Amino acid sequence: MRDVIGYLRTRLDELETQAVHLHRAVCATTGNAHAVCDCGYPGLVSADVRARRELIEELVDWLESEDTSDRGRGRTNRALLLLAQPWAQRSDFDPYWRIDD
Ligand SMILES: [Zn+2]
Repeated sequence: MRDVIGYLRTRLDELETQAVHLHRAVCATTGNAHAVCDCGYPGLVSADVRARRELIEELVDWLESEDTSDRGRGRTNRALLLLAQPWAQRSDFDPYWRIDD
């Protein structure tokens, strides 16, 4: 699971950077690269990424806790894999991480 956790952290860093930079290029609400918008999109993406980073930390804590049962560990692994699915079509995504159901 270590690999997918590192992969997830890297993708979230990219997502946040892309959202801010792509949005800075031009916002659809203004359609003007020089206009300043107040749509709140970059802030929303940053908050979403922050929440997912914290969720990953929680899940890692559960995985590493001796109090977590094998069943709980299995469900936690699945939750981490679910978080990675948005990147399942990338060439560097390990097919072993793919959830098809
Ligand atoms: Zn905007």
